[in-house]
Amino acid sequence: MSQFVFVTGGVLSSLGKGITASSLGCILKARGLKVTIMKCDPYLNVDPGTMSPYQHGEVFVTEDGAETDLDLGHYERFIDVNLTRYNSITTGQVYSQVIAKERRGDYLGATVQVIPHITNAIKDMIQRVSRINDAQITIVEVGGTVGDIEGQPYLEAIRQMRNDIGRDNVCMVHVTYVPFTKALGEMKTKPTQHSVKEMRAMGLTPDIIVCRSGKPITAEVRNKISLFCDTDKERVLEARDVDCLYEIPILMEEQGLAVHVLRKLGIESDPPQLDGWKSMVGKFRQKKPVKTRIALVGKYIKVADAYLSVIEALTHASLQSEAGLDFVWVSSEQVEKEGAESALKGLHGIIVPGGFGDRGIEGKIETVRYCRENKVPFLGICLGMQCAVIEFARNVAHLDGANSFEVAPETPYPVVNLMPDQSGVAKGGTMRLGVYPCRLVDGTHAFELYKTSLIYERHRHRYEVNNEYRTQLANRGLIISGTSPDNQLVEMIEVADHPFFVGCQFHPEFKSRPNRPHPLFTGLFESAASRMANEAT
Ligand code: GLN
Repeated sequence: MSQFVFVTGGVLSSLGKGITASSLGCILKARGLKVTIMKCDPYLNVDPGTMSPYQHGEVFVTEDGAETDLDLGHYERFIDVNLTRYNSITTGQVYSQVIAKERRGDYLGATVQVIPHITNAIKDMIQRVSRINDAQITIVEVGGTVGDIEGQPYLEAIRQMRNDIGRDNVCMVHVTYVPFTKALGEMKTKPTQHSVKEMRAMGLTPDIIVCRSGKPITAEVRNKISLFCDTDKERVLEARDVDCLYEIPILMEEQGLAVHVLRKLGIESDPPQLDGWKSMVGKFRQKKPVKTRIALVGKYIKVADAYLSVIEALTHASLQSEAGLDFVWVSSEQVEKEGAESALKGLHGIIVPGGFGDRGIEGKIETVRYCRENKVPFLGICLGMQCAVIEFARNVAHLDGANSFEVAPETPYPVVNLMPDQSGVAKGGTMRLGVYPCRLVDGTHAFELYKTSLIYERHRHRYEVNNEYRTQLANRGLIISGTSPDNQLVEMIEVADHPFFVGCQFHPEFKSRPNRPHPLFTGLFESAASRMANEAT
């Protein structure tokens, strides 16, 4: 049977609960323990797939094709495992399951209620994750903040689980915020006291409190939190703001987070093996004298989280290089207004990431033209690759007005189109999702980067390169470097006589890990770094 660590949040959202849970996973796994992590999101959407990135940030896609919260990306990167659709649950899923059972007559005769039916469903879903992953320790992050109405069934389910499986098998970690008031020159513990009070009203007490704060937590503050929140003062930890997220497991290890958790659960373990992780963080801290300027040209540039995994993947690639990363945001609408030549001046490499809809699309297509003509290293991901195909069709194959059916259904040349089995289907969870094989063509840049001919990558899209135009585009020089093994779907493209011009229909960013950067990001980064070096000479 698995033991459980529940991670809740107090005071504010976006405090780094996900990073705390991931960091704990990382330092427990470093002790050789079998760990899994899951997220409970208390909203009513079945998954975040239909939400705007403005609402929710990036949608992270698992190998088995679930559209999940971006915290799953942190979990995968910090504990270096592939998670499943079961590692992310939402209130929408819980209620759908209970209502479907009610309609089937599974509860015949009963009044179906939040307690016990919804709470039982939550407990089953939590237990299922530990069973499927055969975990010794299951870390469960509860989204939102303690006190939210929609979070209550989860806290109640946790309270019940403590009784079901025994208190010694459960550890509660509460992540809270300790603000510093400038006027008084003091750190304030009252918000933490209140959030713990809310927890206690639900029958739960934190075993460990992790205090997010802009300043170091003083002994006085620690004592006060310990006294008012009924938690040992050694178990009041501090989570300072850091430049690099990957430092947090080390900071947590230094403060004994894993030791406190294991003590509570009664587990003895070997000391952690964190050498590889520490050397990766060491690379991050290195002051690199030269920096490569790489831009992401997208439409959601006001929300950094919208492209979280892309930025992480680029960072992973930069850690292995002599050059540092100078990351730049460019709005695709800015490219439309100002022109590519001006908006993209001085960049060493450019990524056009995935996206939906028509806003800013012409700016992305112009960005591709600029990269192709000026030999600027370019990586086009999903919509970014579709833009590359459109640009090639218009400007090289002279198919004037070529476009994607998604953007311009009336286009004379729909070079990117719906797959036949996708027309007329509902919007939620109906895209091509999850991992698919792709066969690379010998002698292409893609093959050279991956050094193998069969790859597996994660997808999330509805449209595909239109096979009707494949020969025409190929005759004009578009290289189709990767296809589905049955050759029915174009998965990767490139152009000749260019240092790095690669498009992929899939999302490579989801598979990049801090110690194992993805070859496409490494390829782009290295090519951008050589462009920078050539400019300097
Ligand atoms: N909107 C495009 C499609 O559905 C691309 C999706 C994406 O970039 N993730 O095919």
